[in-house]
Amino acid sequence: MTSIHTSFAPMTQVPGGPMALQLDSVTLTYPDGVDQDGTTRALKALDSVSFCAEAGTITGLVGPSGSGKSSLLAVAAGLSRPTSGSVHIAGRELTGLPERELAALRRDRIGTIFQQPNLLPSLTALEQLVLTAHLRGSRGKRLKAAATRSAELLDLVGLGSEGNRRPHQLSGGQRQRVNIARALMGDPAVLLVDEPTSALDHERALSIMELLLATTRDFHTATLVVTHDAELAALTDRSISMRDGRLEPEPVITPS
Ligand code: ADP
Ligand code: MG
Repeated sequence: MTSIHTSFAPMTQVPGGPMALQLDSVTLTYPDGVDQDGTTRALKALDSVSFCAEAGTITGLVGPSGSGKSSLLAVAAGLSRPTSGSVHIAGRELTGLPERELAALRRDRIGTIFQQPNLLPSLTALEQLVLTAHLRGSRGKRLKAAATRSAELLDLVGLGSEGNRRPHQLSGGQRQRVNIARALMGDPAVLLVDEPTSALDHERALSIMELLLATTRDFHTATLVVTHDAELAALTDRSISMRDGRLEPEPVITPS
């Protein structure tokens, strides 16, 4: 038996299989970072970060601006290659993958939800979702099935009757819901969410967070959500914080 005294899960793999998301000693250095006095020099945005998350759990990531939260998500999403260390998604190591395979893994197993929903202005809510299936190569019957699935997902995020609206006809909260539904197309093992509620009022932010909690359970994703709001972070299964590119406190695992 292992009991965990901070809110961290154990760093080793669980008996049921690999962790959905696992980072080991990840360091990320930007060659052209900007120092506080404005000079350009290499900047260590992530400093030996180890972290893992089980499927079906949601983790809140808090920390001051510039502490490395978005960099952590970018590395976990396979968008930035770490300078050193490794990243596993559902047991597959990301950092050594050729670009093509990395892109496929990103598309199929990693859902990203960022602060600005970046929906395509000319597409309806339903089309935003169907497009992702099209980009995965679905045609004919499979594309039809994806359209049905898209409608189900919109229903699930509370937009059952908004499917034909374009982004400018939706509220900020509704756009973020489309974004969440879109991230759930495919079969994401991991959901990476960067300040999804910072443009929303408190009530809407709360309901977006509750939606993320529900989808984490229903879709069995390992969800990592960056938030400035301590009250929202408190809704997650555990909360971790970053400072100067490091997670704090360091994970403490106490055998009992
Ligand atoms: P957070 O999301 O916690 O605000 P970031 O991960 O965005 O932090 O940034 C961490 C540090 O890395 C900051 O000092 C930031 O200025 C720097 N940084 C972020 N992205 C880049 C980049 N593409 N090039 C250079 N420096 C960057
Ligand atoms: Mg950020």
